Amino acid sequence: WNKAALSIVVVGASGDLAKKKIFPSLFALYHDGMLPKNFTIYGYARSKMSEEEFRSSIEGSLGCRLADGAKCEETMGNFLSTCRYQQGQYKSVDDFGKLSKRIAEHDGGHERANRIFYLSIPPSIFTDVAAAASEGCSSDSGFTRVIVEKPFGRDSESFQELSQALSRHLTEDQMFRIDHYLGKELIENLTVLRFANLVFEPLWSRNYIRNVQVIFSEDFGTEGRGGYFDNYGIIRDVLQNHLLQIVALFAMEPPVSLEAEDIRNEKVKVLRCMKTMSMDDVVVGQYRARSIGGEHHPGYLDDETVPAGSICPTFAAIALFINNARWDGVPFLLKAGKALHSRHAEIRVQFRHVPGNLYRNKMGLDLDRATNELVIRIQPNEAIYLKVNNKVPGLGLKLDVTKLDLTYKSRYNNPLPDAYERLILDVINGDKRLFIRNDELEAAWSLFTPILKEIEEKQISPELYPYGSRGPVGAHYLAAKYGVRWGDIVNPDEHEGD
Ligand code: NAP
Repeated sequence: WNKAALSIVVVGASGDLAKKKIFPSLFALYHDGMLPKNFTIYGYARSKMSEEEFRSSIEGSLGCRLADGAKCEETMGNFLSTCRYQQGQYKSVDDFGKLSKRIAEHDGGHERANRIFYLSIPPSIFTDVAAAASEGCSSDSGFTRVIVEKPFGRDSESFQELSQALSRHLTEDQMFRIDHYLGKELIENLTVLRFANLVFEPLWSRNYIRNVQVIFSEDFGTEGRGGYFDNYGIIRDVLQNHLLQIVALFAMEPPVSLEAEDIRNEKVKVLRCMKTMSMDDVVVGQYRARSIGGEHHPGYLDDETVPAGSICPTFAAIALFINNARWDGVPFLLKAGKALHSRHAEIRVQFRHVPGNLYRNKMGLDLDRATNELVIRIQPNEAIYLKVNNKVPGLGLKLDVTKLDLTYKSRYNNPLPDAYERLILDVINGDKRLFIRNDELEAAWSLFTPILKEIEEKQISPELYPYGSRGPVGAHYLAAKYGVRWGDIVNPDEHEGD
């Protein structure tokens, strides 16, 4: 690494994501000694800022995972001294050329000068930046990699356009399409859980699994940022990418190896096996205002940045089926919503009932509650637990449902790295396992485009649900249609205290 220099250019450095996630993650990597020795960070945006102003604009968002006081402050100072700012236009080859010159002056003397560009900008200018940066600022002695943020289009058509436009300037090899959910600790652990343990994989099929639920619940609304959200809605914002990616990892066949291409080959295969969705299997909702304990919570339409009368869904539940030998007939129920009763993201695997259960009648067990359930809680309070039926110790025979519980904060002392840290480090190392390939996106869009079109063309009105509730009733009917009860609603206590 000493012979190579690395420049990380954050394009859109004045923006929200850069401040909230990218610079803090770069700092955390630096703090943990994970960045190569000769690295420099460049912020690039149109805003006029001096280097000092730029540094102080990011300083406030940096934090130390382990509070080590003065040492942390010193490390922060050292980190900030490597951060430079370059003002420029997004379409300008000349402006990117100026940045290139600055980088070259700094990196001269190294055998290889590697460059990473993080496109933290609105998608409308992805292609302009890819064109100008690749022409004006590519490395001529090392790699040039580009991190692209979602959204990757709005439907199959716009995705193809974006993909073709980007491919005129960048090779597939150079592109790292980020879905930050894939960088979450528990999602990375999914493949470990499945393929490094004997006990789960044999059960991982229609023979033993009754249904799988992937749930994303936020306990706050758009809070004044609804204008951006309204262009996309919850299906594009969460289901088509984060939740579908989780299903792909969960349901794929064992890959030939842990190499990125082998894993992504399996993900594409399972995505292609998914049955086209119909509106009968989709429920959309939108939150309305509600007062809780004297506190007023505005509805989605009260957000001043949201167009009047918008029918944009802030909630969606979908039943998905995979037409292959492993999963035929098993409902995968996906649910995502804003302004719900709690904040959590989890995967719930409900197993079949024990055939001829000897304890069935004697103990008066509620069969649904007595189903073994594996819960992978992605956030907050990361955990994996398996619900089992157990004899209550003592004389007599009484059963209860209890958990074999792996709660991360009790088992592991180390604070978990943020998803962006892991993903940025993977880009530096050229590891694409957790990044999305073009054909995965193609398959994902062809699955969701028909229902998105139908919702928009038929102007399907969302079912209203009160702020802070458990979502629209339609979601319960959808689950009930397949004999399922949403696990996070049957067991609300599992989220208390999170
Ligand atoms: P942002 O703050 O709206 O924009 C980033 C920067 O881009 C702005 O500071 C601005 O910089 C420039 N910009 C904004 N609108 C522009 C326009 N219409 N034309 C040209 N330049 C414009 O965006 P963000 O929230 O940081 O998000 C960046 C990317 O990450 C987006 O693609 C977003 O979808 C994605 N993303 C964001 C989040 C999040 O939490 N924010 C989460 C997941 C994905 P200058 O005016 O200084 O040039």
